[in-house]
This record gives sequence, structure tokens and C-alpha cells, in this order.
Amino acid sequence: MKKVFCVGELLIDFVAENQGNDLSKAINFTKKAGGAPANVACAIAKLGGKGVFVGSVGQDPFGTFLLDTLKTEGVDISMAQTCSTFTTLAFVSLAEDGERDFVFSRGADRELVYDSALRKDFSGNMLHLGAATALLGGPLENAYGKYLFDALTREMFISFDPNFRGDLWKGNEQQFIKKCMPFIEKSHLCKFSKEEALLLSNTNNIQDACDVLHEVGTKIITITLGKEGTLVSYPTKREIVPSITVKAIDTTGAGDAFIGCLLYQISHLDKYEQVFNDVSLLVSMVEKANKAGAITTTKYGAIPALPSKSQLEN
Ligand code: ADP
Repeated sequence: MKKVFCVGELLIDFVAENQGNDLSKAINFTKKAGGAPANVACAIAKLGGKGVFVGSVGQDPFGTFLLDTLKTEGVDISMAQTCSTFTTLAFVSLAEDGERDFVFSRGADRELVYDSALRKDFSGNMLHLGAATALLGGPLENAYGKYLFDALTREMFISFDPNFRGDLWKGNEQQFIKKCMPFIEKSHLCKFSKEEALLLSNTNNIQDACDVLHEVGTKIITITLGKEGTLVSYPTKREIVPSITVKAIDTTGAGDAFIGCLLYQISHLDKYEQVFNDVSLLVSMVEKANKAGAITTTKYGAIPALPSKSQLEN
């Protein structure tokens, strides 16, 4: 089984209680561990895989809480860093349909310093890049580019999720799109939401979006479509893989559970290239990953809602 290095942010989600999606009216907030790449590492570890988190938190009680949470879930945190900047915070509102809105107070996640020591462990393993905060400048963005380069030279399987957060890119969406392109070009697998696929391709339907994004370079595209399941696309073939029926109460982490479960399955292949030409193999993996996403929507929060291997196999 290969390790999956997950690079990006680990932060506190302060989730507004009982105020619909209006953060301005929120009074009480509940503290939760969050950050998409960290959730992906947890999703992999919870299924019994080797999720490694690479990111930075503050030397403060929130940073301690976050690293403890990941460790408890079985994530390898030996490559995580701490710094004197305060831990990154996100304030999150949750609407009745489970959709979310964010306001960020950015801090320590930005300070991730590139570590060349990781390179020796890259060979034969996998890399997942989640870009919610990674393309906003600073040491993290520098580390991000270098890890992509290292992964290419080590022939790793590379996965990319843009994790677009409108609050962080207001008025600068074009810059976000431009910065994502090298990652879409070089990744073997890209996971987009429908909104991200349309934004990044500048199209108004997901079929055209796939054409444009394959043209950029990625071999496999998955577009998660909530309860409709996932569109799986190769340059010459695509299909929608349905999800299971559940009663969703909180969509937080569903996409991370999905990509985590997919990467977990790929990490068991002798050669990751198998997924490039075996459509039925990929579709069967996506069916399972859809189930992981669906289960995650049935509980509040991301990490506590991620399924274990036995939950997934029932
Ligand atoms: P994202 O965070 O990428 O927007 P989604 O909310 O689309 O993620 O969820 C990821 C995957 O989880 C979907 O592709 C789907 O397979 C599954 N899923 C999400 N919401 C539901 C739901 N309400 N019912 C069934 N499956 C769901």
C-alpha cells in the first residue's frame, strides 16, 4: 500500500450554530478540525490507508488540538510543521440543505516551509494537493510548486483539488484560475465540484468543461455532483456514476471523503497506471468513493462523519 502525502491547510472551523447561513447573526460557534487536505488524509487513514499530512499550524492550543485530532485518526503527522503564527481559523455557516459559507482568518497554514527531506519518501508513493489556501502566496505556495516538481521527478501519482473558496479570491478569480492551470496540467487526477469545473474552464456545462480541462492536461477528471453522484471523465469517455440515497444533514467533508476514498483505493494498486486504461476499474472505485461521500453527509462535521472501512463495506 502506498502512502498518500496530502499537502495544504489544517485549520479550525468555527461552525455557527442555529443561524442558517447568515454569519452576521451567529452567536455561538462550535470548534471543529477542518481543512480539506487534512480531511483527505483522515479519510484515507480511517479506511486503513496511509494518509500523511503536510501542513503548518500555530504553536497554540488550537494547533495542538488539530494535530492531536489527526493523530487520533491515525494520520501520519511527522511531516507537519508548527510555527509562531496563530493557527488559521475559518468561520462557517451551514444552511438547511447542508451547504456552507466561509469567512477566513488566515494564519499558520501560510507558513509551511518546503522540506527537501520529503523527496526521498516520495518515490513510489502518491501526492494529493488541495488548493483552498495554497495559491495565496507565501511559503506555502512556494512549497506547493516544489512538491509538484518533486512528485513529477519521482513519478508519483498526483491528485489535485482546487477547493475554490470565493471568500479568499473575491475580485481575483482570474488569478486563481491561472494559478491552478499548472496543477491541472500535471496531475493525473483532478477532482472538481461542478462550480469549480465551470469556473476553471470558463464554460457553462460540465461536458465542455471536461473537454477544456483534459486539453489542459489532466488524464482523469471527477466532477462531484452531490446526490447525483460523480461524473468520471477520460479524454475519450465519460459517464455519471450514481451515488447511494441518504438523508443529508451536513455536506462538510463529503468531497474530501470522496477523493480520500478514491485515493485510498488507488494506493492499493500495484501500478497506478491501471486506472488510466481500465474504465470499469475506475468506475467501481468511484462507486465506493460516492458511498464514502454520501455517508459523510449523514452526520455533522467532517472528520467525525468520515466512514471507517467496515461502514463502507456494509
Ligand atoms: P464537494 O465537496 O466536492 O462539493 P459533494 O457534496 O458533491 O462534494 O459530495 C461528494 C460526493 O459525495 C458526491 O459526488 C456524491 O457521490 C456523494 N454525495 C454528496 N452528497 C450526497 C447526497 N446528498 N446523497 C448521496 N450522495 C451524496
